[in-house]
Amino acid sequence: MELLVAGLDGLSYNMLDRFDVDAPFLRRTRGEGVSGDLMSVDTPTTIPAWTSFATGKDPGSHGISNMLRQDASYEVGPSRPNATDAAVYDFLDDSVFVNLPASVGRVPAAENAHLVSAMLARDEADAVPDELKALDAYDDYVLDHDASLKVRPSAYLDHVLGISTARHRFAREAFETFKPRVGFVLFSTPDWAGHILSNLSSDAARRDFYARLVELVDELAADLAGLADNVVLLSDHGFEHKHTNVHLAEWLGDEGYFAEEETTTGATDVAVAAARAAAKRSDRLYALIRRVHNHIMGTAVGASLESAASPQIDFPNSRAWQLRYGCVYVNDDRFDHPTVDDADALRREIREGLRELTDDEGRRIFRDVLLPGEAYENPGPDAPDVIARPAPGFFPTTLWSPTGGVTSPTDNYEHRYRGIFAANGPLFAGGEAIEGLSIVDALPTILAALGEPLSPEFDGEARLDALAEPAEPSVLSADEVPRPRTRPGDLDGTDRDGAVEDRLADLGYIE
Ligand SMILES: [Zn+2]
Repeated sequence: MELLVAGLDGLSYNMLDRFDVDAPFLRRTRGEGVSGDLMSVDTPTTIPAWTSFATGKDPGSHGISNMLRQDASYEVGPSRPNATDAAVYDFLDDSVFVNLPASVGRVPAAENAHLVSAMLARDEADAVPDELKALDAYDDYVLDHDASLKVRPSAYLDHVLGISTARHRFAREAFETFKPRVGFVLFSTPDWAGHILSNLSSDAARRDFYARLVELVDELAADLAGLADNVVLLSDHGFEHKHTNVHLAEWLGDEGYFAEEETTTGATDVAVAAARAAAKRSDRLYALIRRVHNHIMGTAVGASLESAASPQIDFPNSRAWQLRYGCVYVNDDRFDHPTVDDADALRREIREGLRELTDDEGRRIFRDVLLPGEAYENPGPDAPDVIARPAPGFFPTTLWSPTGGVTSPTDNYEHRYRGIFAANGPLFAGGEAIEGLSIVDALPTILAALGEPLSPEFDGEARLDALAEPAEPSVLSADEVPRPRTRPGDLDGTDRDGAVEDRLADLGYIE
């Protein structure tokens, strides 16, 4: 194999430092090769970011800016895979991709390319193409984790260690069977581990849990890299400790941007209202409620409490709302019942308001608040209207605040923008640091390293300073860009929504 690309979902150097994790293979790859931070996209979440890796385009261009999408009819559901942009498995002949998120339904346009999708697939049979179902390791291959096990962290740890081992075995057998020029495998465990850390009771327990998962993945990636002359390790975003939750709904609601649906008050609403009232008066009680809340996240009870604690927005009668992760949409003519004539003026008004927001200590909540043309190269119609990038340590949720303010204290681990990039082997520069690399640059840089032409459609650029022999790559003409192919009858993913929704809810994306 000429190149192995190993994805380490959600891994960042700060987390390795914080929990004192020794990842010898990553350390060696960084030391001998070229490495640095890898900037994620808006929003820095798994589906948008891996779609940007696969297409070399930012979410404004490929259309998936969030884990969720909202239709013209205001219906909110899981994002659907991009079906319109050429992707890495269309460009690279003789390749095997194992567990590439948000690629289900796509058929590689490249010769002898094999694609196992992840994240938005219904199940293993939906994710794995027929020719790879014949592998011995397919029997044990696991697409996704069982989040219900999170209530017992030791059982969950064994479960995800087992998934990583099975994924490695499957990838190894696939690489040995198909002998590709380029292999890709994504290990999801650093992301899953990050999302459970706040459930653990002490820093020692967090360290032990995180280190065991990351050290195993490091070892498995090292073993697969033994099959290849060159290796690229990269993540799609990082993780960090969050001290403050941001409740954009509190501000948008106070400013009168959205209306709430009239709903009959159920038992959970009463419980949430009572908890809110109590939490406003007592820090200790608030801390207790938060701990209980973190503990039940990912359970059915947690999911129903979450939905009770989020605003139920009356979209046709609203002007603007947050979809999730700091992304605000205005009710303009892309929706069925627009209420906003001058969308641009409203966007600017909201941007200015959000830029001014500070917490109780006077710290700015957002490092930046952008309009789509500022966040994206060429934003399409699905791009959010306002993109609020949280300041370090701040995490935007869709929940009402337990204390009523725009911010509330938390003690959690969540996504941040900066992930990792490290590349080693004869194709890459040795012992170099690289700065300002974005995940949209990863595909053009990999193609340039392999001597392959670039697409004129890429938003990212080939970072020649990462290469051992920097040579200006050629560029395909517009009609040479491979045409994306989809499975017959698979253009519309509605039949997958139910299964996918449950899994995203378990991960806390649907609240
Ligand atoms: Zn991720």
